[in-house]
Amino acid sequence: MLKFAHQEHHKTYYYDSRNLELIRPHLAQNASADVCVIGAGFGGLSAALELAEQGKSVIVLEGARIGFGTSGRSGGQAINGFEDGIDEYVSQFGFEMTKKLWEMSLEAIDIIDERVAKYGIQCDWKKGYATLALNHRRMDDLIAIEQSSRETFGYSKMQLWDKTQLQQHLGSELYVGGLFDSNSGHLHPLNYCLGLAKACLDLGVQIFEQSPVLDMQLQGDKAILKTDKASVSAQNVVIATNAYIADSPKSIHRGSARKILPVESFIIATEPLDQTTADSLINNGMSVCDNNLLLDYYRLSADNRLLFGSDSSSNKDMIQVMRGNMLKVFPQLEQAKIDYGWAGPIDMTINSQPYFGRLAPNVFFAYGYSGHGVALTGLAGRIIAEAILGNDERFRTFEQLKIPAIYGGKWIKNLAIKIGIPYYRFLDKFR
Ligand SMILES: Cc1cc2nc3c(=O)[nH]c(=O)nc-3n(C[C@H](O)[C@H](O)[C@H](O)COP(=O)(O)OP(=O)(O)OC[C@H]3O[C@@H](n4cnc5c(N)ncnc54)[C@H](O)[C@@H]3O)c2cc1C
Repeated sequence: MLKFAHQEHHKTYYYDSRNLELIRPHLAQNASADVCVIGAGFGGLSAALELAEQGKSVIVLEGARIGFGTSGRSGGQAINGFEDGIDEYVSQFGFEMTKKLWEMSLEAIDIIDERVAKYGIQCDWKKGYATLALNHRRMDDLIAIEQSSRETFGYSKMQLWDKTQLQQHLGSELYVGGLFDSNSGHLHPLNYCLGLAKACLDLGVQIFEQSPVLDMQLQGDKAILKTDKASVSAQNVVIATNAYIADSPKSIHRGSARKILPVESFIIATEPLDQTTADSLINNGMSVCDNNLLLDYYRLSADNRLLFGSDSSSNKDMIQVMRGNMLKVFPQLEQAKIDYGWAGPIDMTINSQPYFGRLAPNVFFAYGYSGHGVALTGLAGRIIAEAILGNDERFRTFEQLKIPAIYGGKWIKNLAIKIGIPYYRFLDKFR
């Protein structure tokens, strides 16, 4: 059986503050639909929603619970652009293609705006995001990003802040400055995911939980997807299994899992802070990431907890490690109690570019969001739906990205992560 299959939600702050209870049955008998989606995270639900809006019949098969995967456990930061800067994309793919990708990354944020408004999703969606630099060399990287976004694409929503300007909004001595983007933002990821699921259900999408797909067979122009109890026959399939793809049967990934490196990330949540303390940390509602390779990311929740995340693969007591990381940024939180700590796999690719493609003309996949999945999953769902409905132009643009594979199976991947994490830590020290 697959590792994640039939699991219940992890105990996280998000789970305890969910505002919808959507328990769906498992797939008990054979069914058919125009489209079958595997995975009920942001990506799968986004595709299901777009397709249902266009009148397609859709079945979603989720191996555990809606939002069980990374979507319901993430940092919730919806950031435009991609992990690599614009210049990297321009040098690899030229101006025209980069422009299309950049515009779609902005649309990814608009999609959240639209869906929150259209379906009344209560998920504390808030604009404002800053990337912060720990030293002057890394501040130069931020200066270059601001310049290329403005000069190449006329993007005017970013502001460079020196230390003094930054400290008007952030109570930390750690950084030399930052880049504020008024368009990116953050949300309660599980409530957003549940809100998307509810919108899908209202449009007639059938969602089955605790229904892991164990096999997929292509028969003519149809696909047959088998769970442990029954099967679904569909004309099109959307694979939205994210970092869990490596644990899925071969008939579902057919080698595509070789391109995904699941890197564990951790988040802690403090107890709710009094308003004065919360304001002394962040007073403008923004979310924050530093620009290390192994980065810290944080924000305040709606009830004034500090949600603090870091990428790491240590087996040590992670809550203590994370608390130590948090106190380096905010030593004033020495007395704050930590109420929650949880982890999940981030779906990285080796070159940090998203990995979208097709296993067959009617079987689409999208993963490898490399830290930008909160926003990009919405776009992935939309352009997969467009492709299924007959216009694959935008999906093809993403298919042109070249993602290197890691050969040698799981142990080589684990080795890559084990070597990679200390190596990145070393680079972060000396960059
Ligand atoms: C701790 C953490 C913090 C993060 N923070 C951020 C952030 O701040 N900003 C950001 O942009 N990104 C962040 N990410 C990444 C982001 O959460 C993901 O990129 C995004 O949620 C991916 O969504 P998805 O729908 O593709 O996958 P998921 O939400 O992972 O959903 C995949 C689903 O597929 C199901 N599944 C898998 N295989 C099968 C199968 N065979 N049959 C049936 N079901 C199956 C799984 O159970 C799972 O529910 C973070 C990730 C983690 C773990």
